[in-house]
Amino acid sequence: MDKIFTIMKKYLFSLFFVAPFVCWSQNYTKPEQTDKARFENQEFYEVKNYTKKKIKAQRPKNIIFLIGDGMGTSQVYAGLVANKGDLYICTMPVSGFSKTNSSDKFITDSAAGATAFSIGEKTYNGAIGVDKNGVPKQTILEMAEAKGLGTGLISTCAITHATPASFIAHQQNRGMQEEIAADFLKTDIDVFIGGGRKYFNQRKDGRDLLRELEAKDYDVIASIDSLRFSKGDKVAGLIAEEHPEPMILGRGDMLVRASRFGMDKLKKNKTGFFLMIEGSQIDWGGHDNNVPYITTEMLDFDKTIGEVLKFASKNGETLVVITADHETGGFAITGGHIEKGIVEGKFTTGGHTAVMVPVYAYGPKAELFSGIMENTDIFYKFKEALGW
Ligand code: ZN
Ligand code: MG
Repeated sequence: MDKIFTIMKKYLFSLFFVAPFVCWSQNYTKPEQTDKARFENQEFYEVKNYTKKKIKAQRPKNIIFLIGDGMGTSQVYAGLVANKGDLYICTMPVSGFSKTNSSDKFITDSAAGATAFSIGEKTYNGAIGVDKNGVPKQTILEMAEAKGLGTGLISTCAITHATPASFIAHQQNRGMQEEIAADFLKTDIDVFIGGGRKYFNQRKDGRDLLRELEAKDYDVIASIDSLRFSKGDKVAGLIAEEHPEPMILGRGDMLVRASRFGMDKLKKNKTGFFLMIEGSQIDWGGHDNNVPYITTEMLDFDKTIGEVLKFASKNGETLVVITADHETGGFAITGGHIEKGIVEGKFTTGGHTAVMVPVYAYGPKAELFSGIMENTDIFYKFKEALGW
């Protein structure tokens, strides 16, 4: 029994202390991979062009912001080839590039990268919703909430992980996931779905945030299948103790379903809504120097984009913006076959790189997002689009 306990403790230790750092540091090194990593896709999907529809609205009422963590142009192209030459991303009418450096590093991490979007300021690597001096700044999601809009966060990692956390929490350091979880209770976010359940109910301070959420009228949901039983206006979907599985290990269509659910809930708000959806694990495929990991995550993210575009074209008052916080892996596509959906690639690093990342937009005020911009500009463009 003692032995089992020791092993469990060891396992928990790695979950608590190693996992949060996996995506953190650009100094993370892995022996350079010289053999081509290969992916062959048998399951192609048809891309419909929802963005053909003319948009009449002058400004958006809703913003859906999609972040592909670690999604550089190679990652997008890997997805495109894997799906035989087409992606929903390809139907986005406006595109540009974002420069991703943080305030203290040439190469950003995901915390500084997402905080640049959420507060409009470059900050230090590791910062969650705080500026370069560690001072909390109101995020775009909090501004939306203050103006009466509905708000939501959906991700394929722990909801307390750097990217989603940067929109709702204010902490000096991304490793403080229990503190980040507690920050969710200080807001009135309407919908959040992802992993990270243990940061809510297995805490050093003994608080059970799941009960506290219920006391604040949240439906607390433990699996994607039980989302359909949720009747309330506020939903906390904590569907994994830590992170939902990678696609290659059978996550299924969780992101597509969670996103559809989030849009359906939030559209009931007459003032509008702000929803951030993250394809979190494209980044981990890059860290892992693993082509199948990248392409499967990329295709899952793209199917979600399809679902979002379907909603936005029907709705007519929704601005959709897709970008990345940085590129991961120094991923290059060194071979492949479009008709067969084969992608071959090599990597130059196990960490992030400094290259610009793509930005795509559709909907009212989409034209603001063309050209080369700073990652921080995206925050100001959101405000301009909404007329704030
Ligand atoms: Zn990363
Ligand atoms: Mg992330």
